[in-house]
Amino acid sequence: MFKKILIANRGEIALRIIQACKELGIQTVAVYSTADRDSLHVTYADEDVCIGPPPSKQSYLNISSIISAAEITGADAVHPGYGFLAENAHFAEVLSECKIGWIGPRPEVIRLMGDKAKARQTAKAAGVPVLPGSQDPLQSVEEAVSLAAEVGYPVILKASAGGGGRGMRIVHAEEDLAGQFAAAQNEAEKAFGDGSIYVEKYLTEPRHIEFQVFGDHHGRVVHLGERECSIQRRHQKLIEESPSPAMTPELREEMGAAAVRLCEAVGYENAGTIEFLLDSDGRFYFMEMNTRIQVEHPVTEMVTGMDLVKMQIEVAVGRPLEIPNGLKPRGHAIECRVNSENPDTFAPSPGPLKTFHLPGGPGTRVDTHGYEDYVIPPYYDSLVAKLIVHDRTRDYAIARMCRALDFFVVEGIQTSIPLHRRILRDPDFVAGRLSTRFMERFLQREGRSGDGGK
Ligand code: ADP
Repeated sequence: MFKKILIANRGEIALRIIQACKELGIQTVAVYSTADRDSLHVTYADEDVCIGPPPSKQSYLNISSIISAAEITGADAVHPGYGFLAENAHFAEVLSECKIGWIGPRPEVIRLMGDKAKARQTAKAAGVPVLPGSQDPLQSVEEAVSLAAEVGYPVILKASAGGGGRGMRIVHAEEDLAGQFAAAQNEAEKAFGDGSIYVEKYLTEPRHIEFQVFGDHHGRVVHLGERECSIQRRHQKLIEESPSPAMTPELREEMGAAAVRLCEAVGYENAGTIEFLLDSDGRFYFMEMNTRIQVEHPVTEMVTGMDLVKMQIEVAVGRPLEIPNGLKPRGHAIECRVNSENPDTFAPSPGPLKTFHLPGGPGTRVDTHGYEDYVIPPYYDSLVAKLIVHDRTRDYAIARMCRALDFFVVEGIQTSIPLHRRILRDPDFVAGRLSTRFMERFLQREGRSGDGGK
C-alpha cells in the first residue's frame, strides 16, 4: 500500500481524499495556493506545501511545483481529484518518470478519451452507439455544412478538447452554421488552446445518464450502475441521482454492458464515467468519457455502499476489484450541488460564510470544505458543498432532501439552496419527468431568465 499520498487539488474533493487516506492508514500531503492557506484540506492533511499564488495556472495547475512538493515530502503517489490536472496525460507521464504513483488510468488512455472526437471513434469501433456526425475533426465550414445536411438540423458543434460545458454551439439552421462554426473554433482555441471541432446531431429532449465504471490492473472492468444528471444549467450539472427514474433492469444491463465494452476496448484502469444521452424513445448514445472521479460520485456510493475513493487507491496499488457482477442499487440517492452563486443569474458569489449550519440526521451526508467564518475565494469554482441524501425510494429521498435543504443555513453569501428547494418541489421533478431542458422550462415557468438550460 502507498505510505503517503499527495492530493493535487483543493476544496471538498481534497477533503474527501484525505478521509479515504485516513481510513486506509495513509499519510497525506496537501498542496495549496496562498488564497487557500486557511482551507480545511490544509488543516486536516498531515503535511502541507504552498505551491504558489492564487491563480490556478500558477498553483493547482503548476506541474513543476506539485512534483517538487511530492519530492520534498517523499509522497509515493498523487491523487488528482477532479478538475485541475485530473485529466492531464502529461502530468501523469511526468509523475511516472519521477517514479511517483498516479491514482488514475494510464496516460495514453487519458489522452485518447480526453479528445472527444477520438473518443467518439473509439466508442463506435467498440460497437457503442454514437450520435450521427463527423468521423474526424472538421476541416472546413463546407464540410460542416454537408455533414449537418446529412444528419439533419439541429446539430451541435463541439470542441474536441472541450469540457466543463464550454465550447459547444447548437445550430438550428444552415444559415447560422458558418457564423457558429467560426465562433466555436475561436472559443475552443481560446479556452483549450486547440481549435478542432466536430459536429453531431443535437437531441432536443434527452436525458443525461452516465455509468460509473471501474477497471483494475488485472483486466477486469465492472460498472456500478448509473446516475441521472439531467438537471443542468448552462450544460453544468446541478442535481444528480441514482438510480435514474428512467431506468429499467433491461436498459441498465444494455447500457452498462456498452460502458464496460468501451472500457475493455481501451484497457481502462481505475474509476471513470461513461456519459450517454438517452432519447425519448429509449435509444442511448455515447457522449463522452471522464477519466477520473466525478463530483457526483457520492450518489453511487450511497446506493452501492462502496467507497469509490478508497477503491481508486486500492486499485492503483494493483489490488483486484472485489465487486460482484450485476450489483443492484439499494434505495435511492440524490445530490444537490450547493454553489456560492446568485440563484437567479448564477453569477458567482464569493465571500465569508457568516453562518454555516449543516443538516444531519438519517441518510444525510454533506461533503464540504466550508466552515463558519471561512472566506470563499473568488479564484476557483463555486462549489461550496454537496448535499446528498439516501432513502428507500425516490419519493422518500425527495422528502428527505427537502428537509435537509430547509435545515441547511448559509449566511454571508448567496447560494443555490433556494433554487434547489423550488426544483425539489416541482411536479415534473417529483414525477421524474426529466430532460436536459428541464431547467430552461422550469425557469420560464417561474418567469425567470430562460437561459438556465442553454
Ligand atoms: P462537457 O465535457 O463540456 O461537460 P458534454 O459533452 O459532457 O460536455 O456535454 C454536456 C451537456 O451538453 C450534456 O449533458 C447535454 O446536456 C448537452 N449535450 C451535449 N451533446 C449533446 C447532443 N448531441 N444533443 C443534446 N445535448 C447535448
